[in-house]
Amino acid sequence: MSTPLKIAITGVSGRMGRMLVETIDASEKAVVAAAVDRDGHAWIGRDLGLALGGAARDVFVTSDIDAAIADADAVIDFTAPAATIAFAAAAARAGVVHVIGTTGMTAEEIGQLAGPAEQTVIVRAGNMSLGVNLLVQLTKKVAASLDEDYDIEVIEAHHNQKVDAPSGTALMLGEAAAAGRGVSLEAVADRGRDGITGVRKRGDIGFVAVRGGDIIGEHDVMFAATGERITLRHVASDRSVFARGALKAALWAQDRPPGAYDMLDVLGLNAD
Ligand code: NAD
Repeated sequence: MSTPLKIAITGVSGRMGRMLVETIDASEKAVVAAAVDRDGHAWIGRDLGLALGGAARDVFVTSDIDAAIADADAVIDFTAPAATIAFAAAAARAGVVHVIGTTGMTAEEIGQLAGPAEQTVIVRAGNMSLGVNLLVQLTKKVAASLDEDYDIEVIEAHHNQKVDAPSGTALMLGEAAAAGRGVSLEAVADRGRDGITGVRKRGDIGFVAVRGGDIIGEHDVMFAATGERITLRHVASDRSVFARGALKAALWAQDRPPGAYDMLDVLGLNAD
């Protein structure tokens, strides 16, 4: 591990990629050592600083992940599922920590991270913010305290460019609610109501996805019963919460043995 930590950012031109550059620049504990984007992207071959509209920084954007991480301590990755799987294999080959913020991965795609996690540390979370990870724990506790008289609905809202639904965070919250109730989310998830759906099935966990404008990320977990309703809510008003969480994960991961971890591990929230 170098001091400061050398970080390769994938998807550097994206919303989270740019925020990561800003967050790492503001930290004394890490530097942006490499920048990756997809093949054919207009930034490939350009100086990252100039591409961002600032001063040159002698870091050139590349689509060659192996070259990018050859001299890095960690790769922070907010891209797309297929790219993330390829990056996991590269990080494992190089023995570099892989922090994954990418969402929308199928169970099969997540399964493909198991091999790389035997060789290096992978920290993957659908949401890297402290607040949401606390909300996950609260959701589990509240779900464990209430019976099925309380209908659970997870309601999320995001910007109009988001490509997956429900959000990775909504699924984390659904998993937490299901775990609190001692059931499998797969068995009770109700994801997408349209037309004559019939009445709500007791015990189901419902998901609602709102898409519009520039909403960064809002999540409500509603427990609705006859005569009362409890709502746990998190609102992200700035993407920097995710970038700061990802950087924290990259720093935390340096002393860990290979394996698959999440933000609850990083934040020390995994105890019940
Ligand atoms: P975005 O579309 O703005 O950026 C995605 C970036 O990935 C782009 O720069 C794109 O060119 C790049 N990319 C795509 N395929 C690539 C490839 N094969 N190789 C290299 N780069 C590639 O999206 P965004 O808003 O920055 O979000 C990215 C991902 O992060 C999404 O899955 C989103 O849901 C997730 N996200 C997670 C959290 C969290 O806390 N875990 C927070 C925000 C966003």
